[in-house]
Amino acid sequence: QKYGVNELRRMFLEFFESKDHLALKSFSLVPHNDKSLLLINSGMAPMKPYFTGQEIPPRRRVTTCQKCIRTGDIENVGKTARHGTFFEMLGNFSFGDYFKTEAIHWTWEFLTEVVGLDPERLYPSVYENDDEAWEIWNKEIGVPAERIFRFGKEDNFWEHGSGPCGPCSEVYYDRGEKYGCGKPGCTVGCECDRYMEIWNDVFSQFNNDGHGNYSDLAQKNIDTGMGLERLACVVQDVDSMFDIDTMKALRDHVCAMSGKRYGIDHETDVSLRVVTDHIRSVTFMISDGIMPSNSGRGYVLRRLLRRACRHGRLLGIEGAFLVELAQTVIDGSKDGYPELEEKKDFIFNVIAKEEAQFNKTIDQGLSILADMEKEMKKNGETVLSGENAFKLYDTYGFPIDLTSEILEEKGLTYDKEGFEKAQKEQRAKSEGTFGTHSYTGKDATVYDELDAELATEFVGYENLVCDAKV
Ligand code: ATP
Ligand code: MG
Ligand code: MG
Ligand code: MG
Repeated sequence: QKYGVNELRRMFLEFFESKDHLALKSFSLVPHNDKSLLLINSGMAPMKPYFTGQEIPPRRRVTTCQKCIRTGDIENVGKTARHGTFFEMLGNFSFGDYFKTEAIHWTWEFLTEVVGLDPERLYPSVYENDDEAWEIWNKEIGVPAERIFRFGKEDNFWEHGSGPCGPCSEVYYDRGEKYGCGKPGCTVGCECDRYMEIWNDVFSQFNNDGHGNYSDLAQKNIDTGMGLERLACVVQDVDSMFDIDTMKALRDHVCAMSGKRYGIDHETDVSLRVVTDHIRSVTFMISDGIMPSNSGRGYVLRRLLRRACRHGRLLGIEGAFLVELAQTVIDGSKDGYPELEEKKDFIFNVIAKEEAQFNKTIDQGLSILADMEKEMKKNGETVLSGENAFKLYDTYGFPIDLTSEILEEKGLTYDKEGFEKAQKEQRAKSEGTFGTHSYTGKDATVYDELDAELATEFVGYENLVCDAKV
C-alpha cells in the first residue's frame, strides 16, 4: 500500500483524534505575538503560549499539520533528499497531559501499524542521559539496545530561540544501502540520506528565558514533529521528497516547461528541485498575506521568488512561468489547505507583479554581473566591489543574497561593507528628498501601492490564522 501525501496527512490527524486529540487547522506562517521568530518553522512554534501557560489551549491534547518555512535550509535545497524551505510538519501535542511513555508508544504505533513501516528499519535516538526514554524504547517497545542511539545536545535537545525546550527522541528510517554514502562508519546520524530522520518527539519540560537560563515549566509537555514530505518519501519508497506524489507532479510541470528531463544531469536536477521547492514557499507565504519587500519576511519571499526566477532561467525557461506553477501547487495542496484555492487570484496577482518586475531587468542584470565577473577575472580580483553589488541590487532588483550566491558558485565574493555603505548613502539621499519616507530599493514603492490596494483583504487573513477545527 502506497499512501499519497494528502492521505497520510489525514491518517495522522485521524490517528491522534482517536487518541483524544483536538485537530486544529495549521496556523499562519506569520508568527503571532512572537518577535523571536521571523517565520513559523515548526508545529510547536505557534503554540508557545500554550506551553508556557500564557494562554489556555482549547484542549490539553492537540494535533496539527503545520505549514513551515526554514530559510536556514535554503543551501540544502536541491542538494539533499530531505530538505525544503517549505514543508509540512505533522505533530501531536500535550499541554501538561501525557508525557514520554504515551508519546513514544503512539509514535511507534503510527509508524508501524497505521502506515506499516518495517519495524526493523526504524532507529530511535535519545538524549545522551535520558535513560527514561531509552528504557521505554528498549523495554516497552522492544527495540534492541544496539539499535537505539544516544546523541548530544546538538541533535537531541530541542530549542528554538526562547521558550519551552527539552530533550528529545528522534526516529530514523533506514532507506537501504543504495542511498548510503558508502563511507566507513556510515550509520544513524550520518549526514547522507540513507538513515533519514523522520520524527522528533520533544519532551518539553524547561523554559529558556532567552539568556540561556533554564527553569522547570509548571507542567510537562509533549511536542512532536514529523515532516509530512519525509514520511511520504519513506512510505512511498522513493529517492527524495521531490519524488513523492504531490511534489513529483510539480517537478514534472517544471520539466515540461523547460523541456528538461529529471535525473540526467546533476546541475539541472538541482535547479529543477530549487524551483519546485521555492514556488511552494512563495505560494504559501503569499496566501498568508506576506508581500515581497526589501526587509524581514517580505525579503525572504522576494529572495525565494527571484531565486526561483533565476533557476528557471538556468533551465532555459523564458518569460513568466511562476503563476502557472503556483496553480499546480494549489492543485496538489488544496486538499489540506482549502484557503489556497480561495485566495488563488490574490496569490497569482502578487506573483505576476513581482515576477514581471524582476523579469524586466533579470537578463540585463545577469549579463551585467557576467561582465563584472569578466572584469574581475581580468584584474585578478575575487571580490566584487560594494558599489557594483549595490548597482545590481538597486537598478536590477537582485537581492544581495542572489548576487552573493551567483558569485559563490564561481569561488567569488562581494564587499559586504561597501555594499552596506552604498545602501546607507542611498537611503540618506532619499530621506533628504522625501522627508521621512525611507527608501529601500527601487521596488519598494510598487509594493507600497500594492499593499494599500489590498489592505482590506488583509484583515480577512488575520482572522483565518488560528484554531478553526479541520
Ligand atoms: P535535519 O537534521 O534532517 O535537518 P532537523 O533535526 O533539523 O532535521 P527537526 O527540527 O527535528 O528537524 O524537525 C522535526 C522534523 O521536521 C524532522 O524530523 C523532519 O521530518 C522535518 N523537517 C525538518 N526540517 C525539514 C526541511 N527543511 N524539509 C523537510 N522536512 C523537514
Ligand atoms: Mg535541520
Ligand atoms: Mg536532525
Ligand atoms: Mg531533528
